[in-house]
Amino acid sequence: MSTAPRLTINLSNLVDNWKTLAAMTTAPETSAVVKANAYGIGIEEAVNALYKAGCKTFFVAMIEEGARARKVAPDARIFALNGIFPDTVDRALADDISPVLSTLDQVKLWASCAQGRSSAIHVDTGMNRLGMDLKEAEALAGQRELIEQSGAQILMSHLGCADDPKDEVNHLQFQRFSRIAELYPDLRKSLLNSAGIIGNPDMAFDLTRPGVALYGGETVNGIENPMKPVVTAETRILQIRHAQKGELVGYGRVHKLTRDTVLATCSSGYADGYHRTTSGSGVPLREPEPKGGIAAIGDYRVPILGRVSMDLTIFDVTDVPTQVIEENEWIELFGNKIAIDDVARSAGTIGYELLTGLGRRYHREYIES
Ligand SMILES: *Cc1c(COP(=O)(O)O)cnc(C)c1O
Repeated sequence: MSTAPRLTINLSNLVDNWKTLAAMTTAPETSAVVKANAYGIGIEEAVNALYKAGCKTFFVAMIEEGARARKVAPDARIFALNGIFPDTVDRALADDISPVLSTLDQVKLWASCAQGRSSAIHVDTGMNRLGMDLKEAEALAGQRELIEQSGAQILMSHLGCADDPKDEVNHLQFQRFSRIAELYPDLRKSLLNSAGIIGNPDMAFDLTRPGVALYGGETVNGIENPMKPVVTAETRILQIRHAQKGELVGYGRVHKLTRDTVLATCSSGYADGYHRTTSGSGVPLREPEPKGGIAAIGDYRVPILGRVSMDLTIFDVTDVPTQVIEENEWIELFGNKIAIDDVARSAGTIGYELLTGLGRRYHREYIES
């Protein structure tokens, strides 16, 4: 044991979430997006668990991530969303990573060196991020030989407003994609990420691409999150102290105690991805929804006081009975009791950023419940 914070990663819940997402649409296949170290939880562990559960297609962003996934999923299809350059071809071939081709140049490049390996073609239907525009995709559709040489198996696009299922942009993108899809009869079609699956399941086509929902993250605005939590982050109480009304807490003059307060100083901070913007500085304590982050010990919710520092965070534990609160004990930052997206909201961001920013200092434990 150490003073480091710890992460408990529940791989059974990961697999359950994948199955839940698979059951939500009629798409014959549900892949798993495991980019950014499987959203921070560990790409080898995540891919291994999903592969054993029957997942056969994975998406990463970078070829290097694909190489890590390949080690644990020897005969899976692994697609790299960020495409291919002349100087990354060798790596892609060596680990059998299929690039997602977003420009005509990439299609030609891969066609010239793919040696029968596969790829996907990305069409931009309204997000203006990655992918060929509609005209380019239409023109390419006529070049049957080039498409064949590129080994293209999947035609994909990505929704820009899937977190708001009623947004008409979703329907516009769906219509555009449907029209292009007709020009590529031999390719399987893929449109939906997590939010799309949950919010617009009837737009599913042949293959879905969930990411954050696998890891328990919230995706669609305004509905209860149907996913099981996968990651629990806990920080260790290093010291408990009793401070008087009127004293300051933490760096700067940002929090003055409004009552005699019991403080727990804990062993993690912004260097561990617990954002500094989560600080509850100056937030009146008894507000029903304090704006700062809140953690949990036992059944008690404990707000942050003062600024989150690099390696330390201070919580107000005044209302926790003394028999519950002890030095060396653990406080849950997020997980089973505190939703990761609530912490993200208090930091002004989304669960994705909290997950992918989890620092390297956590002691990680993988469990199967
Ligand atoms: C990241 C990504 C996904 C997964 O998105 P989530 O919102 O995490 O489900 C799917 N498709 C593409 C193209 C992506 O970049």
